[in-house]
Amino acid sequence: EVIVEVRNLKKHFEMSNGFLKKTKTTVRAVDGLNFKVYEGETLGIVGESGCGKSTTGQLLLGLMEATEGEIYFRSTDLASMNKEALRKARKDLQVIFQDPYSSLNPRMTVGELIGEPLVVHGIMRGKALRERVIELMQLVGLREHQYDRFPHEFSGGQRQRIGIARALALNPKVIVCDEAVSALDVSIQAQILNLLNRLQKELDLTYVFIAHGLPAVRHISDRIGVMYLGKMVELAGRDELFNNPLHPY
Ligand code: ADP
Ligand code: ADP
Repeated sequence: EVIVEVRNLKKHFEMSNGFLKKTKTTVRAVDGLNFKVYEGETLGIVGESGCGKSTTGQLLLGLMEATEGEIYFRSTDLASMNKEALRKARKDLQVIFQDPYSSLNPRMTVGELIGEPLVVHGIMRGKALRERVIELMQLVGLREHQYDRFPHEFSGGQRQRIGIARALALNPKVIVCDEAVSALDVSIQAQILNLLNRLQKELDLTYVFIAHGLPAVRHISDRIGVMYLGKMVELAGRDELFNNPLHPY
């Protein structure tokens, strides 16, 4: 079953040239994407730096308005949703970033960081919130006694677990993993990928897994899309892609 579908998606940025700003250049970050994401799968998206992967992720999350084209979440175009529907869809669409350290507020404790989405959406507070946060911590391999610690006290891999727990707080359906393991040591990458695999099965998650390098994507993806200059130049099953001897990847 298709959970997300992208049709003719474009995102162009107008850039002023120089301080006089007399001329403009258009950066075609995303330039006509078409693909489907099936429920429960991991769709890997790879491509060199600047090819439009992060912009695609932002668009999928409903965090950025497309220049052209549509993004359907469960058959409804994000752009056609009213505020309430979009707010709901955004709960179902969550993200894990490359470096949770730079995306996590250093003044908040682990417990506060993981519970924040639940507080912001007015879903839980007090004792129920604490219990839910501890449940989320255990789900990702963190311990209850770490609740009041700060992110800087953790290793990169542990911090990524915090980021994952936070992304899971609202029971999402789709998680965009944007270079989620790229900054980690290889052995830690494997741990986090195994965790993501386990969570996918336990929680029926769908992943869009963005990475510039192939090893991580190969490990986790069912299908892989290759982006180049804002376009998807290839989209195939993992084995099909990797077993083709003519393939440059
Ligand atoms: P990737 O994630 O594959 O490295 P990005 O999606 O970050 O690629 O960027 C694609 C292209 O769009 C790059 O040329 C980048 O500089 C440009 N770009 C991304 N975001 C913006 C922005 N907010 N304003 C202007 N240009 C942008
Ligand atoms: P990535 O490492 O994923 O390729 P970047 O480090 O290129 O991402 O970009 C980080 C952030 O800056 C992204 O949110 C992207 O949209 C934005 N960005 C990238 N290029 C530009 C640009 N030329 N002008 C403004 N913002 C940009």
